[in-house]
Amino acid sequence: MKTDILIIGAGIAGITLAERFASEGKKVLIVEKRNHIGGNCYDYYNEHGILVHKYGPHIFHTNYKEVWDYLSKFTDWIYYQHKVLGNIDGELVPIPFNLNTVYKLFPKKYAEKLEEKLITHFGYGKRIPILDLKNIDDNDLKYLAEFVYEKVFLKYTMKQWGLKPEAIDKSVTARVPVVISRDDRYFNDKYQGMPKNGYIKMFERMLDNKNIKILLNTDYKEIIDYISYDIMIYTGEIDYFFDYKYGKLPYRCLNFEFKTFNDDFQPVAVVNYNNNYDFTRITEFKKMTIQKHEKTTICIEYPSDVGVVAYPILNEGNKRILEKYLEEVKKLENKNIYFIGRLAEYKYYNMDEAVKRALELYDGLKG
Ligand code: FAD
Ligand code: UDP
Repeated sequence: MKTDILIIGAGIAGITLAERFASEGKKVLIVEKRNHIGGNCYDYYNEHGILVHKYGPHIFHTNYKEVWDYLSKFTDWIYYQHKVLGNIDGELVPIPFNLNTVYKLFPKKYAEKLEEKLITHFGYGKRIPILDLKNIDDNDLKYLAEFVYEKVFLKYTMKQWGLKPEAIDKSVTARVPVVISRDDRYFNDKYQGMPKNGYIKMFERMLDNKNIKILLNTDYKEIIDYISYDIMIYTGEIDYFFDYKYGKLPYRCLNFEFKTFNDDFQPVAVVNYNNNYDFTRITEFKKMTIQKHEKTTICIEYPSDVGVVAYPILNEGNKRILEKYLEEVKKLENKNIYFIGRLAEYKYYNMDEAVKRALELYDGLKG
């Protein structure tokens, strides 16, 4: 069989590239090993008619106008600004830890002192990674930093990664900084929302082109010998492509437990369990999709070494292995094979970054 463009993986990166190439008349074949499109962004209506995310909560947020404009061609958006509460010793407080959290957890007089010192030291509106806050040379702020480290980050990170915060790449805990303002939102990006009819409806629109064919339930290695192509785009795991010849790049995995109740479960869509229980967070979907329904479905996330492949583990050893694979990837560009996305680049991408990378690759290749 001959196709112009062969895309391995029907996640958001693969779908974006399929849409772009098909729109200029190229024949595209997508090969996907799962039984559905959408990759980890997959959503569906469960047996109760509630829209749920199969692989954990996905909230769209970006500062890239071009990514927002691009996806907006395929969906309208529900206005939704994600807010998370952290369960800290049984009390629900705003996360990221911010000035509101300070006032919730400390007596007013002391909270005022901490607020003043935080603003003087860092400036109002600044977002400080917890590991930077810990280095501060002031007794009150040092106390605060230790408190936040212990209560917000340490046990959550131990559950999520099986490691202490200082043993994982600094960029990971920096995703949820200490915020020197009253902004309770989890993300401060300019564009935020949920696709009006869900992610899959958005993807179906992107793929609605007679030039695109999709083969589900198929690992590309089963069929690659029977297909010729001008360009191949690979969005699967980078080490798998090379038969693990430089070793395996590990992932932190997740297991999801879904439950449905007759009454609402929690005050906001996501509650993080910072220092108790063996799960990390609970999502109540209808509070983020703004679906009206008499029942409610929640999802409990259990991190583990086995389960759904979720997070690349960015330590020095793995980065060295990755470098070796990336050298091989460079050589394949002569053969028109390109690697893109969270698995193929082994990067902790959000959805918008996966789309941005896909759009950049397309711009580089078109014509
Ligand atoms: P994927 O979605 O992983 O797609 C790759 C596809 O390739 C998969 O469908 C896979 O089955 C297929 N594939 C792999 N190997 C093969 C093979 N050998 N043959 C055929 N097919 C193959 N991002 C946000 O922006 N906001 C969020 O709120 C958010 N929440 C998240 C929550 C969780 C729990 C997780 C795990 C991720 C979250 N993300 C979020 C990140 C988001 O899921 C990723 O950025 C996005 O899915 C990356 O898309 P991708 O196409 O690169 O990879
Ligand atoms: N984190 C934490 N406590 C929290 C939230 C986050 O310790 O309440 C740390 C944890 O190490 C986590 C990282 O910050 O892996 C990034 O969190 P984020 O919510 O961005 O993770 P994701 O949504 O990608 O699972």
